[in-house]
Amino acid sequence: MNGDIRKIRLLMELRRQGVSDTGVLSAMERVPRELFVPEAFRDQAYENIALPIGAGQTISQPQIVAEMTAALELGPRLKVLEVGTGSGYQAAVLAHLCRRLYSIERHRTLAVEAEARFKALRLGNIVVQVGDGGEGWPAQAPFDRIIVTAQAEMVPEVLLSQLREGGVMILPISDSGREQKVVRLRRTADGVERESLMQARFVPLLDGLPSEAEGK
Ligand code: SAH
Repeated sequence: MNGDIRKIRLLMELRRQGVSDTGVLSAMERVPRELFVPEAFRDQAYENIALPIGAGQTISQPQIVAEMTAALELGPRLKVLEVGTGSGYQAAVLAHLCRRLYSIERHRTLAVEAEARFKALRLGNIVVQVGDGGEGWPAQAPFDRIIVTAQAEMVPEVLLSQLREGGVMILPISDSGREQKVVRLRRTADGVERESLMQARFVPLLDGLPSEAEGK
């Protein structure tokens, strides 16, 4: 079966699973997920599953990418921060729906591969930085939207401080270390509103840059 047919089947499945945001579905239609997974997993690129991408990390399940992207309430004038570039797949989907995306990855090897993919796909509105995303991107703050694609134990206050008033932040957190859920935070004039959106498993948000032992 060729890739386009598999992709259409995946998009139909996402619709059946309740993803109704047509902007998100068409952005996902435009991004070739097979280019974001290692050669050995190309056959599975359009299955609704997470896959390994190297450095012990994973590309998220398409369903989760779709739901988190929809929950972010994107628009063509918005400036967005992503923490956890990984393969770059989520970033590529976001880039079709916002003005500019700033994405931070702590593994240099993953960041370099993701950048090459953005170049090949002519996604000129993504800027990648190697670093600890827990510190955010102060030089570009504030952001209209922030998405974290690795799971933290608490909401990183530094990131929240880089969210503009009226802004939305989506992140997976593990309350009390057991339950993992994706939450949406909205900064208002009076403070921060919080809603739980769904259950999901993510790799952990780690501090600092990788050691030699962990690999670059
Ligand atoms: N959005 C990615 C998902 C990658 S998994 C995709 O679509 O493929 C989460 C990523 O977050 C991993 O690549 C991991 O290395 C990265 N990560 C974890 N902690 C981080 C941190 N503090 N700063 C930046 N990246 C981090």
